[in-house]
Amino acid sequence: MTHPTMSINDQQQHLLRRLPGVDHLILLAQDDPVLRFVPKTIMVRSIRETLEELRRRILSAPQTIDEDHLAQSFLLEQVSQKAASLQASNLQRTINATGVVIHTNLGRSCLAQAAVSHMAGIAGRYSNLEFNLEEGRRGSRYSAVEELLCELSGAEAAMAVNNNAAAVLLCLETLARGKAVVVSRGELVEIGGSFRIPDVMAKSGAVLKEVGTTNRTHLRDYQNAISTDTGLLLKVHTSNFSIVGFTAAVSLRDLAALGRQFNLPVMEDLGSGNFIDLTQYGLAAEPTVQDSVSAGADVITFSGDKLLGGPQAGLIVGRRDILERVKANPLTRALRIDKLTLAALEATLRLYRDEAQAIAQIPTLRMLLTQRSEIEGRAAMLADGLRRLEDDRLTVALHDLPSRAGGGSLPLLELPSCCVSVSLAGHSANRLESALRAGRPPIIGRIENDLLIMDPRTLHEEELEIIVRAFGEILKLLTD
Ligand SMILES: *Cc1c(COP(=O)(O)O)cnc(C)c1O
Repeated sequence: MTHPTMSINDQQQHLLRRLPGVDHLILLAQDDPVLRFVPKTIMVRSIRETLEELRRRILSAPQTIDEDHLAQSFLLEQVSQKAASLQASNLQRTINATGVVIHTNLGRSCLAQAAVSHMAGIAGRYSNLEFNLEEGRRGSRYSAVEELLCELSGAEAAMAVNNNAAAVLLCLETLARGKAVVVSRGELVEIGGSFRIPDVMAKSGAVLKEVGTTNRTHLRDYQNAISTDTGLLLKVHTSNFSIVGFTAAVSLRDLAALGRQFNLPVMEDLGSGNFIDLTQYGLAAEPTVQDSVSAGADVITFSGDKLLGGPQAGLIVGRRDILERVKANPLTRALRIDKLTLAALEATLRLYRDEAQAIAQIPTLRMLLTQRSEIEGRAAMLADGLRRLEDDRLTVALHDLPSRAGGGSLPLLELPSCCVSVSLAGHSANRLESALRAGRPPIIGRIENDLLIMDPRTLHEEELEIIVRAFGEILKLLTD
């Protein structure tokens, strides 16, 4: 209500006096068909916050308030919306339109249906997690995946822990605490999210012994560094970067031979481990776990949720005597894998028994190997849907832009893709990006050259329709 004759102050007084009290709204909410089912604490908090916001707006911008804002029905609607947002999950399903397949910030890998089902089945019931059903006595939680990991990798023994960072820490602590670990300078990597090999090594109590130079390390560098203090020779897969040009690195096979000669264990942190040779599908060479086992590494660690496409986990495979020492380390208890992860991991690993099945059913692999032609089809569908919104302000176009593997896997690889760009006259790409991000479910795209870009490589079929609907809402919201 704007009263032209009133001073702002009088008008504010007038509006403030008309605000109902908290108790009055509580009474009304108790009869409201939606709010009556909201927990009392949430209801009261929503009422208080709604009134507080309105009060602040009356004081700061009274000209934006009129009679309608003080109507009971409007207030109750505001309270309902606030209650709904207070009750919504913080962790929510999010649409990844970035084209980065293994997107660590968006949860890395989506699980295969078989993994989701097995996990759900185990979650709500008791299980034989640590119970040996044949002998009717206590069993080991590691047995659920050990045989499978051995079968797939060719290793003698295996186990799974919380993540690969934990696997590296645990192996270093077991094999080299208080001893020197020889590692090439070119492999002292930092993985996103502040995992630095030198820092993890320090925490394990092992002493880093760097050899070689950033771009070149030779077998003699390792050999010259070996002394009576040496506990381990370590090789780290330089996941997220590549040194090109005048380079030299020692192969795992040669390092393993050196280790045998000096009776020292050789460990490899593979980073993004994987059981399928992706070069046959046109992707760059990423070493497989089997390669590392047959090259002679004594212990190998890798992630469950990078190229493998399973849940967050750290997998350790290698020599039986070494794995026995690792399992006996008290630190293992602090880093252990939980039963839901174990269920998802087991189901994922089973899919790898049949390569075609793994590629068809594990979303990470399927997305990485999706052909450009198929993505172009999805891009066209998305573009069509957006054009059907028939808003003159919207410009929709297709672009040949690459997707990325992400997760520190295949760092230089550009996967040919077909992306959809959208711009909205009168609004920046940043505004559009934030509006999509604020939606339910949130949609995460990327911005390039001041254009909002969406890459359908990482979109599920049903998400195209969700995106079109979200744009429909945004167009209504973002008026000129
Ligand atoms: C990703 C990565 C890690 C950490 O693995 P998480 O599963 O994320 O803990 C360790 N080492 C290398 C080489 C990696 O690429």
